[in-house]
Amino acid sequence: MSRTHPADCLARTQALQHAEALCAARGVRLTPLRRRVLELVQSRTEAVKAYDLLAQLSTEDHAAKPPTVYRALDFLLEQGLVHRVDSLNAFVGCNHPDTPHAAHLLLCTQCGRVQELHSDALDAAIAQAVGATGFVTHHARLEVQGLCADCAAKAGQTD
Ligand SMILES: [Zn+2]
Ligand SMILES: [Zn+2]
Repeated sequence: MSRTHPADCLARTQALQHAEALCAARGVRLTPLRRRVLELVQSRTEAVKAYDLLAQLSTEDHAAKPPTVYRALDFLLEQGLVHRVDSLNAFVGCNHPDTPHAAHLLLCTQCGRVQELHSDALDAAIAQAVGATGFVTHHARLEVQGLCADCAAKAGQTD
């Protein structure tokens, strides 16, 4: 499902411009390849795998060897411009990369849409529950699988 609304296009352009401004402010370089990889990831609401990016880039004139694409993805991860979806071994764009954050991810198994979930209450609950075991958490990020609101409504499972 790749629906494109004008509003999405506008938001995407703004997101790219925002990413450029962020990188400039941080003194890091959003090279043409890094920018294109970001654009490809942001153009989808579902998570994108590295080999899909490679396939796409190889049809363009970027010299996209696997290590180059992985390095570009590493850069985008470091800058918080994309998030890794561990359970899918894929990547999704972040809409608010200004402050580094570990987002919980809601994965729709129907349409593939990935949404970020930020919840202080959830973070606190995890910290408390894990802390009680003596385990020292480095990072705790949930990936929740299910149906997004749209798909749940279509499936009549809104209750
Ligand atoms: Zn994010
Ligand atoms: Zn969905």
